[in-house]
Amino acid sequence: MLSYQHAYHAGNFADVHKHLTLYAVIDYLLRKKTAITYVDTHAGRGLYPLEAPETQRLQEYREGIWPLWQARAGLNDPLLNAWKEALTSAQKAPASLTHYPGSPWWLSHSLREQDQLRLFELHPGEHEQLSAQGLSPRAQRVFGDGLAGLEAMLPAITPRICVLIDPSYERKVEYQEVADTVVYTHEKARHGVVLIWYPLLPSDHHLTLLTALKESGVRKIWRSELLLREPGEQAHGMFGSGMLVINPPWGLDQRIAAAMEEITPLLGTDTRYQAEWWVRE
Ligand code: SAM
Repeated sequence: MLSYQHAYHAGNFADVHKHLTLYAVIDYLLRKKTAITYVDTHAGRGLYPLEAPETQRLQEYREGIWPLWQARAGLNDPLLNAWKEALTSAQKAPASLTHYPGSPWWLSHSLREQDQLRLFELHPGEHEQLSAQGLSPRAQRVFGDGLAGLEAMLPAITPRICVLIDPSYERKVEYQEVADTVVYTHEKARHGVVLIWYPLLPSDHHLTLLTALKESGVRKIWRSELLLREPGEQAHGMFGSGMLVINPPWGLDQRIAAAMEEITPLLGTDTRYQAEWWVRE
């Protein structure tokens, strides 16, 4: 039984970290004409009105996209400015932040003729909302398990593939399931770019995923983390957001670091960004 609904968290600091990284990766991939298959294994609703009762309940966007939006006129970093332009195009009126776009929107908005996009969602209500979004006609929405769905698609029919794996980790075993799927994906699409999001929690469950991947033989794994608070400061709740990128495009680390230098002070005085190669080439 799935209970997680991303609308309660839409636009929070983890979304900023995840979607900025995704945007930067897509931006690199678009520099070549060869076709890309994009896969979003855990899609959610696709677009989140900030006024929705679920989003208003926790208002997590106030510690995420909101301070960035308020500072938008003075942003200097080119990646951040390009991202802001895309974000602005998702608004009903360009001057106000009314919606926060989820990963299906970020993947769909720059989809070209030659590209494909498959969006998996297993929650019936979330899938219904995703199906109602006005995405690209080439965005195929599938009601089903995203990890199994991804594996069934491999090898992809296009020369390149880019996968986002962004589970809710409601079940502890998902950390291992994600690692197993990543290893399988790497076997079938050695040069595929795979992005994996994970939460930083006091329980440190994400170490299952990190350790499994380190021991798997998969190479070129880059890791970045955005920490709102220091580990151990609070007994409960997510204190940071983690991203792994397998086969990151060349220069991604520096581009994200430059954007993060501008973002972190806007998110809070204790906010910190760190990145490293988890497994080198
Ligand atoms: N990727 C989205 C974004 O960035 O906007 C947010 C996704 S949210 C963290 C996780 C989503 O995965 C939820 O909507 C949940 O219903 C869905 N989900 C959970 N288990 C799934 C599974 N096995 N296959 C596909 N979707 C699943």
